[in-house]
Amino acid sequence: MAAAEETSKSSEAFPMKGGDGPNSYFKNSIYQRGAVDVAKQILNNEIAEKLDVEILLPSNTFSLADLGCSVGPNTFSAVDNILEAVRLKYQCQGLDSQIPEFQVFFNDHTLNDFNMLFKSLPPNRQYYAAGVPGSFHGRIFPNNSIHLFHSSSTNHWLSRVPKELVNKNCPAWNKGEIHYSNSTDEVVKAYEAQYAEDMECFLHTRSQEIVSGGLMVLIIPGRPNGTPHSKTLPNMMLQLLGTSLMEMARKGVVVEDKVDSFNIPAYYMSPQELEAAVERNGCFNIEKIENLPSPLGDGAAIGTRVLAYHMRAASEGLIKQQFGEEILDELFDLFCKKLEQKPSIFESGKGIYFLVVLMKRMPN
Ligand code: SAH
Repeated sequence: MAAAEETSKSSEAFPMKGGDGPNSYFKNSIYQRGAVDVAKQILNNEIAEKLDVEILLPSNTFSLADLGCSVGPNTFSAVDNILEAVRLKYQCQGLDSQIPEFQVFFNDHTLNDFNMLFKSLPPNRQYYAAGVPGSFHGRIFPNNSIHLFHSSSTNHWLSRVPKELVNKNCPAWNKGEIHYSNSTDEVVKAYEAQYAEDMECFLHTRSQEIVSGGLMVLIIPGRPNGTPHSKTLPNMMLQLLGTSLMEMARKGVVVEDKVDSFNIPAYYMSPQELEAAVERNGCFNIEKIENLPSPLGDGAAIGTRVLAYHMRAASEGLIKQQFGEEILDELFDLFCKKLEQKPSIFESGKGIYFLVVLMKRMPN
């Protein structure tokens, strides 16, 4: 079956730390929550202006999917914001009696802690909830079945580490680094190519699943246009994490070879790069693209420890797989210290969240 084929193309999974313990994503994602909050007003306006209620006919069921929902609670806020905006739109048009029923699909990798997600579903929700496991780089929904896609803090995750990076004989072998901001041009090119391929898969598969006239809202952590990779804040933080691992390798706590072959599959795109990908794909119009205000003020104001633990919740699964669980506390203590010693990166490093609203083009 075509859908299964497309899904199997991208099977590597890096879910966030599950449960609700002290290191969980549930407890360490206020920054991502901030992004959902600052996007709310724009989202309201876009839905009020751009959503065509006719696309719901004849069933009058509104199908919304949150891609990369993780374990909560941020996904629930995002869903509430969207459904409130849709209801408001009906009310403003005097269509109170025609407010649709809502079906919400929560998607993430199969290894995501869906039990945690379902346990914390808001008890008084006014929608039907369903979980959809699988990578959003492949097909996860039937043709023409979704009216609005939402995805926040997810599109920077690549489907895999670019394969050139793990081959010792390849010029893109990333010795002593775990990411691309301090690496050779070959490494950077391999990451850029993987990003372009993944974004095309993402847009291509969504374009089949969304109805004509349907909207897709993406909230993406990235870098401002024109900012070099080496001056992009999340890249600089990942580089410090790599330095921490190398320090542990020198002390003999981890094997250096393992650091050489370890790479974080994340890419921080600029709004311009996204625009180019949407243009290449050709199935969507860009209705809006806008940088969001910084979710919680600047990095220094959020606190280095909070940021370090956000990083841990997001990357511990990957690190554990390569180096074992026992190194995690020491690694993140060291990383936290390095962040504290380098407050300057919060001034020199540039990071943004930007929002893009895409509409599936109507058939000619
Ligand atoms: N949207 C939530 C969670 C963001 S964390 C929030 O705003 O808080 C990123 C999530 O994206 C993780 O749960 C991760 O597992 C998921 N993710 C990353 N790549 C994915 C993919 N290819 N398919 C589905 N989910 C993915």
